[in-house]
Amino acid sequence: MADGRLTITVLGSGTSVGVPTIGCHCAVCTSIDPRDKRLRPSILICWDGHSVLIDTGPDFRQQALAAGIERLDAVLLTHAHADHIMGLDDVRPLNFHMSGPIRVYGSADTIDIIRRTFHYIFDTRPTESSIPKIETCVFGGAPIRIGNLDFEPIRLAHGHGMVHGFRFGSAAYLTDHSGIPPESMEKLRDLDVLFLDALRHRPHPTHSTIEDSLVTVTALKPRRAFFTHICHDLAHEATEAALPANVRLAYDGLVIEVDNPPLHKFRVFRSLQEVPADFGPCALTIGNFDGVHAAHRSIMRRVASVAHEHGWQAAVLTFDPHPAMVVAQEKAPPLLTSIEQRCELMRETGLDEVLVLPFTKELAALSPEQFIRDIAVERLGARAVLVGHNFRFGRGAAGDTAMLQELGQRYGFEVETYPAVDCRGTLISSTQIRRLISAGEVTDAWRMLQRPFALEGEVVPGEGIGSRQTVPTLNLSEQTGLVPLAGVYVTRTVDLDDGRKWRSVTNVGFRPTFEGQHLTVETFLLSTFDGRAPARIRVEFLYRLRDERHFENAAALKSQILRDVGRAQQFHRRTTKMLR
Ligand SMILES: [Zn+2]
Ligand SMILES: [Zn+2]
Ligand SMILES: [Zn+2]
Repeated sequence: MADGRLTITVLGSGTSVGVPTIGCHCAVCTSIDPRDKRLRPSILICWDGHSVLIDTGPDFRQQALAAGIERLDAVLLTHAHADHIMGLDDVRPLNFHMSGPIRVYGSADTIDIIRRTFHYIFDTRPTESSIPKIETCVFGGAPIRIGNLDFEPIRLAHGHGMVHGFRFGSAAYLTDHSGIPPESMEKLRDLDVLFLDALRHRPHPTHSTIEDSLVTVTALKPRRAFFTHICHDLAHEATEAALPANVRLAYDGLVIEVDNPPLHKFRVFRSLQEVPADFGPCALTIGNFDGVHAAHRSIMRRVASVAHEHGWQAAVLTFDPHPAMVVAQEKAPPLLTSIEQRCELMRETGLDEVLVLPFTKELAALSPEQFIRDIAVERLGARAVLVGHNFRFGRGAAGDTAMLQELGQRYGFEVETYPAVDCRGTLISSTQIRRLISAGEVTDAWRMLQRPFALEGEVVPGEGIGSRQTVPTLNLSEQTGLVPLAGVYVTRTVDLDDGRKWRSVTNVGFRPTFEGQHLTVETFLLSTFDGRAPARIRVEFLYRLRDERHFENAAALKSQILRDVGRAQQFHRRTTKMLR
């Protein structure tokens, strides 16, 4: 859904004990109106292929099944009361379908309670049972960027405690609260959709009533308001009949569409001259970032959160061509990603700006101090520089992280460095991933990249085996970067123009030509394409099936292809949910 639409699904609209309430025989608890059945409060937000859940209450399993949740980009927690967190363990099946841990965002207090309540998830003792894979992230006042959408935490009073709601685009979700501080009211202007706590009519020390929330609606004037966290005092139909037309009671399963949320603007500059004079201040990371792998991404997410915490820009300084091409061309590795792919992946991590510096001999000749002072500090206004532990910079790569610390003190910026990240016993690095792909180990590379390694290009007329077969076959144009070891792979093929996706099997091989050998990447789709043949494709490498082999005759080849297709179908069935 790349059309700027966002949908909100109400997974639960009930108060902490749910409706019907255990042991109660009141008119609402025994009502046959399905809108009077209220699970514990939670919503699901979907846009552009992303999905975010707010709160994992005790009914999460049932809600996830009803909404068909298969993967989540993040869980945001409003606070740590039991009715909002006790279903967290049930994210486990999502871990099987997703390649990395699920990120769970909460305030420092909330995350502290999560870590104590679910201590078995976080203690490092080995266990025989399956536990959720969770990465906890503490938010401050700054927006949390997920995909291309910002979620701004909104502070709310909940009795004597302080909890959070979230604003995202032109929608806001404020469940449990008894008061909205003035500075939070300011952040809730111009809303299309506003969710508010409305427990019942009678006053309550920690919750808003219908009457309280009607006052909020009058003050904020959202286009539409939905009341939630409802107890068994309120019958859906009768209560709604007495409300203004733009105020409705939420109910479980309600889906709301929000128009055109203002999505994050992302800018790429291709030279220092393109950078506007008033650029910055910024939090900055510097590097080649070939592959934008798991370790790169965790630094980039940190850059975004440091920057947004302070109201700065989140920026990356990277180079094109790869410095090795200029310094020692014969040693330059074939790259995992083109500069265009790198920029797109950086955008997804929540960064605001990428400066792609042409890596020239002049740039390579700058001393470490000149490089940092003239470019990072004076030109980009860096207030914080965050880099990997092995970061080197300046002429002859003479600068290291110790020197960066020194320069930080001299020129007034913070420095954070990050240790290497381990993936099943191997340190993640671009070099290691290149090695894996060259060896055909595409599944291990997928794990380190947190997405499958892919080749992109135009579809060209084929000369190979597939063009004589009946299966739809797509030949990829010549590749300049890294290519997996010759052989046959389970792949997924994506039409770069309209996003259509197909299960596929791909043969990477060499064919003799007049000049010698000629690399071919030939993809067999496992289903036919509806409509026109794709012109530009991305081929994602998931699993290596076998070596390339020579066949005695067409029948032997055909039976091997059938076996490959069978194994590929099996692999796809098992892993389809891991892919976005
Ligand atoms: Zn609650
Ligand atoms: Zn009742
Ligand atoms: Zn609460």
